[in-house]
Amino acid sequence: MIFFKKSKDLSKYLTNEKLKTTIVGFVPTMGALHQGHLSLIESSKKEAGITICSIFINPTQFNNTDDFAKYPIAIEKDIELLLSLGCDVLFLPSKEEIYPAGYLAKHFEVGKLEMILEGHFRPGHFQGVCQVVDRLLEIIIPDRLYLGAKDYQQCKVIDKLIHLTNKQHTTQLIISPTVREEDGLAMSSRNLRLNSAQRKLAPALHEALKYVQENFDTKSVSQLKKEAIEELEAKGFKVDYLEIADAETLIPSEFNSGKQIALVAAYLDKIRLIDNLLLR
Ligand code: AMP
Repeated sequence: MIFFKKSKDLSKYLTNEKLKTTIVGFVPTMGALHQGHLSLIESSKKEAGITICSIFINPTQFNNTDDFAKYPIAIEKDIELLLSLGCDVLFLPSKEEIYPAGYLAKHFEVGKLEMILEGHFRPGHFQGVCQVVDRLLEIIIPDRLYLGAKDYQQCKVIDKLIHLTNKQHTTQLIISPTVREEDGLAMSSRNLRLNSAQRKLAPALHEALKYVQENFDTKSVSQLKKEAIEELEAKGFKVDYLEIADAETLIPSEFNSGKQIALVAAYLDKIRLIDNLLLR
């Protein structure tokens, strides 16, 4: 595995490699890697000639300083995991490399998608995501970008970003299914922050979504939301939202029609967890 810290060096290396290989696969991450991240690397390894993983804890997407300060870091273990999968390139940029002096933050017209759900509770979050992904796509120009359905709204925002910046003919977005622990909890770097009591409670998030899925055809949307939120709150979660939305636009819906998805974000103490489940 080749390590790069400078975007200029990575771009130069890729210019040469692109003459030899047909497909460059890219997996952007914030590190503290788990099987969810690794499933993306594995997909890229199967389909691409070169697989690039980036690890960068992007400050501009954190709207909460405590969350940023406590974001888990496990770089040595990450490197071991990437080596074991045969990842070809690890890009480890500094903050100055991604946001050089004089960098002017662009604004991306993501529209309603960045106002609702995660966007509503984390103001500025998706602009920060767009900034970093735009920079990384400019540097790497991958043929395939691998993202996880665990961050469903983020996938929709990045799809929009790709179209806004006219990269849809260069970079294909591939969305991989959410990888879960045996008890159903969606894998997440933030799970490392849960104490053992919180870890036992955390699968309730997935159970709430499954409850909505199983009863979607027999109960009303408002009844399902009410029951699922009450159940989570009774267990000690502070729920930001549990919504049922159109799976394409993510606009919340009161009717059980079309392709829909249930999405949830909730706190266990100060740790915020998200999950989602396609309903049909
Ligand atoms: P992060 O390091 O949290 O920024 O995540 C990097 C990428 O891994 C994003 O595309 C995430 O959606 C994806 N990812 C995170 N957790 C999972 C999971 N449990 N299953 C599948 N993909 C995931």
